[in-house]
Amino acid sequence: MTIKQVAILGSTGSIGVNTLDVIRAHPERFKVVALTASKQVDRLAQQCAEFKPAIAVLADADGAARLEKLLRDQNINTQVLYGPQALVTAVTDSGCDTVMAAIVGAAGLVPTLAAAKAGKRVLLANKEALVMSGNLFMQAMKQGGGELLPIDSEHNAIFQCLPNQYTKAPSPGLGVEELWLTASGGPFRNTPLDQLGGITPEQACAHPNWVMGRKISVDSATMMNKGLEVIEAFWLFGLSLEKIKVFIHPQSVVHSMVRYRDGSVIAQLGQPDMRTPIAYGLAWPERIDAGVAPLSLTQLAALSFNEPDLARFPCLSLAFAAAKVGGTAPTVLNAANEIAVAAFLDEGMPYLQIPNVVEKTLSAIPVSNADSIESILEIDAQARTVTRDFIKTFNS
Ligand code: NAD
Ligand code: MG
Repeated sequence: MTIKQVAILGSTGSIGVNTLDVIRAHPERFKVVALTASKQVDRLAQQCAEFKPAIAVLADADGAARLEKLLRDQNINTQVLYGPQALVTAVTDSGCDTVMAAIVGAAGLVPTLAAAKAGKRVLLANKEALVMSGNLFMQAMKQGGGELLPIDSEHNAIFQCLPNQYTKAPSPGLGVEELWLTASGGPFRNTPLDQLGGITPEQACAHPNWVMGRKISVDSATMMNKGLEVIEAFWLFGLSLEKIKVFIHPQSVVHSMVRYRDGSVIAQLGQPDMRTPIAYGLAWPERIDAGVAPLSLTQLAALSFNEPDLARFPCLSLAFAAAKVGGTAPTVLNAANEIAVAAFLDEGMPYLQIPNVVEKTLSAIPVSNADSIESILEIDAQARTVTRDFIKTFNS
């Protein structure tokens, strides 16, 4: 068996740590060759001490100097780099063949695109990268000739429910009629609407079923996460938007489904534990032990499925609308949402302003073609500025 050489973009986050957990159990299959983080120097130092990658990357020079010192003291000769361009170096110069794209938000786009162009196996957790640049990203994958394996649990489930040999958009011959994405509905699925005004970041980040980073936890509470996932599914699986449906399934046991022409519906079930999709992506087409407890059918509560209430989850409607418009609208949606969520988490912006701010930004910025990485990054930057300005006017 050839050992897979793995680079992890965002190794200190929730997905990154789960990825290392799966890798740790299979040293005969995987070798870590690059690890990257934004600011968590101590955690990255521990990871480097354990996995001894060729390259480690931090966001800035101060962090890199601290990491360098910690590693030299232990005689570990990992090369320490910093800054956005170093994330690309971690992908192109580490000798990796597999890249876990697990940076949160737009910051992951450029290195993930580099992995796509370089023909790596891309394990895509960083859905924002695909939402921002769907067409370009899929083209880059095609050009590079590598494999794209979705790690987001819903998309990983759909991938598993499609025929084995599927790696590109399903051809009409597959008989796929619809993709059914499940959503937990987050912590406020049943909260009276008049109580949503006072939601705190801690309440929004307390997801009932999944333990995740703070940004995606808030996205799950607003259901913007499911909106981003509809756009993600559109690009990954090449079906029209009308064929992608969302169902609230509070138990998070059925991770998503594919409905076929002949009446069959194929579902993937499992514990809400990201190590299952991560292990599947790492070892595909084989299956390996992910360290996940077996699902016990008889201990499950009843499984239920409902249509989402769009009045409760306006972010979901905004995402559907942006997806329909296409071009740079999803780029703007994503950028506005990142800024709005950060303002809610770190600056006390009220929870209910998140959809307002996103909607205002979407209507303020004209849609154009998302046809080059430069134009996408420019629109992303413009949308961030416009969103910050709206937030300032709310605060004044
Ligand atoms: P997280 O916040 O726990 O971790 C994010 C990682 O990205 C960290 O290692 C952080 O250091 C790094 N990072 C953040 N900003 C950066 C920047 N500007 N430059 C370089 N590195 C930066 O997030 P997470 O929950 O692990 O999510 C990561 C991605 O995976 C997100 O796109 C999320 O939507 C997706 N995802 C996560 C889960 C989950 O269960 N956590 C499930 C599905 C999809
Ligand atoms: Mg998901």
